[in-house]
Amino acid sequence: MKLTNSYARLGDNFYESIHPEPVKDPKIFLWNYKLAGELFHPEILGLNNQELAQIFSGNTILTGSEPIALAYAGHQFGNFVPQLGDGRAHLLGEIVDHQNLRKDIQLKGSGPTSFSRNGDGRCALGPAVREFIMGEAMHAMGIPTTRSLAVTTTGETVYRETPQPGAVVTRIASSHLRVGTFEYFAARQNHRALEQLCDYAISRHYPELRNEGDDRFILLLENVMERQIDLVVEWLRVGFIHGVMNTDNTTISGETIDYGPCAMMGVYNPRTVFSSIDRQGRYAFGNQPAIAQWNMARFAETLLPLIANDEKQAIDIAGQRVSEFPDRFKEKHHHMMARKIGLTKLLPSDHELISELLDLLEQKQLDYTISFDRLRQSLSSPSEEKLITADLGSWISSWKTRLQNQQESEVESQALMQQVNPVVIPRNYHMEKVIRSCIENGESSAAEEFLEVLASPYMATDTTAQYQNVPDDADLSYQTFCGT
Ligand code: AMP
Ligand code: MG
Repeated sequence: MKLTNSYARLGDNFYESIHPEPVKDPKIFLWNYKLAGELFHPEILGLNNQELAQIFSGNTILTGSEPIALAYAGHQFGNFVPQLGDGRAHLLGEIVDHQNLRKDIQLKGSGPTSFSRNGDGRCALGPAVREFIMGEAMHAMGIPTTRSLAVTTTGETVYRETPQPGAVVTRIASSHLRVGTFEYFAARQNHRALEQLCDYAISRHYPELRNEGDDRFILLLENVMERQIDLVVEWLRVGFIHGVMNTDNTTISGETIDYGPCAMMGVYNPRTVFSSIDRQGRYAFGNQPAIAQWNMARFAETLLPLIANDEKQAIDIAGQRVSEFPDRFKEKHHHMMARKIGLTKLLPSDHELISELLDLLEQKQLDYTISFDRLRQSLSSPSEEKLITADLGSWISSWKTRLQNQQESEVESQALMQQVNPVVIPRNYHMEKVIRSCIENGESSAAEEFLEVLASPYMATDTTAQYQNVPDDADLSYQTFCGT
């Protein structure tokens, strides 16, 4: 297998050429057979675990691979940092998968680079397993995401609050272009590099814009914004809280990236925050649309010199686009919420029906996933109907009346609800239990079992029920930490 590296052709100011730092005793801990099958040919698929571990720890470098650490900047919690970059990651190269899509193969936790600042360049096993499971869960739910090909243990210890087993995650992404990549060059007023980046982003993610001449920059903004809107709508559909929506964690491809302090909302409350470092609730569940817009405004700023020569004119044009975010978001969000309650067409009065439901869920402190699943089941199960009516009272009769007024039958509504309401999500409590088991037992069976259930999020399997329950404190005291 030969890797290519089109990103390295952009010029050496885009990255640092650097090899991963070899590790002592690499072993494959989790391997994504399905994803590997979509990416590789038998020459890789036929390797034994030891050979794979050498490659996906960074000890062996594949033919054609020119490992690089990418340069980027970013706004972290609202503050601009002109240089972040891959401080513990190496882009090995790109591969064209069996669907003819170009994918980045990146190692994370593979050693220090010139972007490491005070970090050790390493990753602990817990966050690596978490990233693997979350990516697969999101993918199975149909949400755009980077995915993990492998978690490889290193045989070395990394020191966080406590000593932890070290690991390297192999991340597969449509690209690693971020808003922060554009900010890096905008901060340096390097307009030529910005134009190169735009054309590179267009060729990888928006090829239809190739022939749009000077309009391609504003169209790029519009297209990236649309994908971010779609992405956050999807996050809200399943109760996902990213936790650290900094601009360096906002992709140009529209994929979810960086599963550090993310978590799933249990009890519905738009102010839900789990990340220990997010003290102001900047990245709370319900704040995610506003933050995505804020991030798009930062992206727009980087494009100003390309959008028009006159700065004021450029600000007017770009500002206009970014200001359309809330309405575009609302429109898509309402349609998504309508589908969650089985409505195929949205009537103006449905807005009230949906917001009444969300208010009830919040007031009564009901679990988001379980409530929507119960609503679906209530259409065919009198016992579930009784349970959900006890929770939601007269709202249920308003909803039933509304369902009867649409053309579709209740069976059709139920089928629609089944497509959008997961029966199982990677609940924080189970995620922590699985990670603990992996670390304590030094083997991955708990993660494999969890992954199997999460692979069919819309359909219960024999073991699904084991992962649906809510912990006694309903996760209200749960906290996540950055995996660094
Ligand atoms: P993240 O929180 O993963 O989005 O990372 C933010 C920045 O910190 C990026 O520049 C990372 O490369 C860097 N970073 C995070 N953890 C480490 C680490 N253990 N060693 C070096 N750099 C790190
Ligand atoms: Mg990051």
